[in-house]
Amino acid sequence: MQSRRNFVKWTAAGLPLLGFVRGAMGREIKKGKKPIVVSTWDGRSVNNAAWETMRSPDMTALDAVEAAARSIEATINCCVGLGGNPDRDGIVTLDACIMDHQFNCGSVAGLERIKHPISVARKVMEDSPHVMFVGAGAQQFALEQGFQLESPQLSETANKTYQEWLKTSEYKPIINIEQTQSRSGKGGPAAPSFLPDGSFNHDTMGTIALDSEGRLSGACTTSGMGFKMRGRVGDSPIIGSGLYIDNEVGAAVATGQGEEVIRVSGTHMIIEFMRQGKSPMKACKKAIERIYKINPSKARKFQVGFIAIDSCGVYGAYSLQPGFSYALKYEDGAGVLKEAESLLK
Ligand code: ASP
Repeated sequence: MQSRRNFVKWTAAGLPLLGFVRGAMGREIKKGKKPIVVSTWDGRSVNNAAWETMRSPDMTALDAVEAAARSIEATINCCVGLGGNPDRDGIVTLDACIMDHQFNCGSVAGLERIKHPISVARKVMEDSPHVMFVGAGAQQFALEQGFQLESPQLSETANKTYQEWLKTSEYKPIINIEQTQSRSGKGGPAAPSFLPDGSFNHDTMGTIALDSEGRLSGACTTSGMGFKMRGRVGDSPIIGSGLYIDNEVGAAVATGQGEEVIRVSGTHMIIEFMRQGKSPMKACKKAIERIYKINPSKARKFQVGFIAIDSCGVYGAYSLQPGFSYALKYEDGAGVLKEAESLLK
């Protein structure tokens, strides 16, 4: 199987973007990219969807991140949308949230049989006085807003995986496809999983974008952990855990073991570190260190990855375990896939 390291394409120079240049008198001047789109995992195709949207003059970063999430929700993959893996009772439940540059935000959790949870989250944000809807109420809201009720049937791939899982019915949360494979392997870096058509099996898709007008926005969409207990909600639809935006400071989004991200309000913490002057990468690293410090031996068994951009378009990422990739798109660069530095080697 193709290794993740071969799969990851580095920038032409093979160097990370430092984000700072020296100006007159040696003062550091931030040099970011604007506009820019950054997504978790191999989000190159979702970044393209965001980019195409942002090119239209009347479209904003918010439209772009919604388009990005919709594009992955429409595909069959393990971890996002109705084709994703079900909970342990065999039901697919979706979590998503969206946030703009003015602290407007919307979220849905445990949403069933609706194809585009991200668009329902946007409706929550724009057409309700609330921030978050869950379960049956979220579905009712979606239907009232004109979304269509889809079939409850599992995708062929998800059904196969579920039937396999039923043989042991281990009620342990399975964190993500990379972790599953690395655990069953020899403990080396996690190998990526490819679908029969050669595309990559995503985990939670988180996208953050800065448009040319300087507006930051973010979206996060997932079917959550495969075979989770019924009713379990992870970090992804929780504002401040899975996603946070403060336009004065930056944007951050998370993937990985949701419980551990919720415990520290991961993305909100990253924004606060950035507010104190940390670069996006350092801020992500500090949040990972905080998670690790809670219980270092437990932290060896799960993955968390963060990506962030600041209001100048400087980006960064960091993960707990190796193997966390993220995708970038900006004006003078083709779609780039990078691997984040990790705390554990
Ligand atoms: N963060 C997601 C959750 O806990 C899972 C993932 O990103 O793999 O539901």
